[in-house]
Amino acid sequence: MSSSRKAFVFAALLMLTALVFVSCGKNAPSPEGGSSSYFEAHFLDVGEGDAALILCDGHAMLIDGGEPKYSDLIYAYLEAHSVERLDLAVATHPHVDHIGGLAAALRAVPAGEVWCPVSSYPSKAFASLVQYAGMRGLRLRRPSPGETFRLGSAEVRVLAPHAVTDDANNSSIVLRIVYGNTSFLFAADMEREEERSILDSGAELASTVLKVGHHGSGNATSYPFLREVSPTIAVISVGTPNPYSHPHESVLSRLRDAETSVYRTDLQGHIIIVSDGERVSVTPTRNENADVMEPGFTAEPKHH
Ligand SMILES: [Zn+2]
Ligand SMILES: [Zn+2]
Repeated sequence: MSSSRKAFVFAALLMLTALVFVSCGKNAPSPEGGSSSYFEAHFLDVGEGDAALILCDGHAMLIDGGEPKYSDLIYAYLEAHSVERLDLAVATHPHVDHIGGLAAALRAVPAGEVWCPVSSYPSKAFASLVQYAGMRGLRLRRPSPGETFRLGSAEVRVLAPHAVTDDANNSSIVLRIVYGNTSFLFAADMEREEERSILDSGAELASTVLKVGHHGSGNATSYPFLREVSPTIAVISVGTPNPYSHPHESVLSRLRDAETSVYRTDLQGHIIIVSDGERVSVTPTRNENADVMEPGFTAEPKHH
């Protein structure tokens, strides 16, 4: 080998070593936390629906996936964030605006567990969720209140449901995720009945960030619940206009009274919240200074 060729091979090997080192550093999970630890909550704009991707220390979980028409968005978002596996996929309840895109996520990547309050529900979207979970060798499982799940150095704690009834919204899986001294409460579509059951359980609710219940429905986010959670930041996952006038002006007014900073996916696109374990920073993907206190309006007359 000529000396210039030797130099070339040496340089190439050096570069390869550097590349391997960089990619290990980036993807290495650090369950003990430490300086490489990170936590991000991405509240995705899936119109009138919910979808949140949580990334912590090389681990990922997805809470809901919007309607089936957002499958491509979910797929592209996972790919853009190099998510190759979900530790946990949560179907908070079987309504289509929550589970639709979850099937796409399971089609794209394997998962460790899939949580859902029910194991059957009469809809095409639900059948699809069960099918793709099955393809990954998983069955839907209902977690118990008080149960915890480790996501990197974050802890996911199940607050509800305490009971599953025909009222799917009030049987939602409700989670509180703690990362260092910051915490995130995901209220799914629960309304005041399930809020009451959580308050009665005596679970710790105080949270830095609240994903507001049921897209800002007036029947959710009651004063007693809001007082306990006492969030600094609230995210409303909603599409306007919608047939329900979400978010309701009464909820916006309660959040204003609680001196909570409100962010909305309908006005501000995906909302990305990063925590360093002590404080959080919020980045809306558009329209940072939107008038978030403008109530939603009804798109079409309601038929009874
Ligand atoms: Zn919903
Ligand atoms: Zn619902």
